Amino acid sequence: MRKEKGACYICGKTATTTEHVPPKCFFPEKKDIGDVKDYRQQLITIPSCNEHNLKKSKDDEYAWFIIVSHFQNVSVAQTHSNTKIARAMLRNPILENLYKPHVPASVDGMATIATIVDGKRFFNAMDHISRGVYYHHFNTIYSGTLNILVPSFVYMDDPDCQGKNEQMNQWEATSSEVLQDYPIYGANPEIFHYQVVQSSQTQITALRLVFYSGFIVDVCMNGS
Ligand SMILES: [Zn+2]
Repeated sequence: MRKEKGACYICGKTATTTEHVPPKCFFPEKKDIGDVKDYRQQLITIPSCNEHNLKKSKDDEYAWFIIVSHFQNVSVAQTHSNTKIARAMLRNPILENLYKPHVPASVDGMATIATIVDGKRFFNAMDHISRGVYYHHFNTIYSGTLNILVPSFVYMDDPDCQGKNEQMNQWEATSSEVLQDYPIYGANPEIFHYQVVQSSQTQITALRLVFYSGFIVDVCMNGS
């Protein structure tokens, strides 16, 4: 299905709105990062119908909370999360529940917390973002299934969590090596960028989404 002017990026129906992908909330407002830079320039936009409008989805906001507070991010994300999350929590104390349940953890000797991710919500948001990026990049709708891997997550409650974490680390190292020769797309790469590898032999498209230079989501698309 080719992208028509104004055809929804998910279903191809007539679009009623334009939306940002990733959603605008991922890009800090100047006031949240001490006015250092405007990261809301040249954001990617795609057409969508009413039903598939990401703005309506609370899952996006949830995914943002999880991603922006990840320890591997660049410092602009830390500032963004500290100011914006604190403000949001003051407004709406229910948001504190986002990090529950959690356990104490430490990163390089610094005390922090590890929280259990609501996979359904997180992956729903990533599904939409991946399809949006695909549509933007290839000018066509991807309606196949997605296989989403998140090397930035760690397994904690799995009987074989050590083995799975090692496997994930290995995956990340190998794929990063392959990807270093591929171009990076995105006008605000510190905040969000992506890379694409498409195999003409296998028809598989691999998409790497990188948020805040530290949080990695790898997406495998093997249909059309
Ligand atoms: Zn639609």
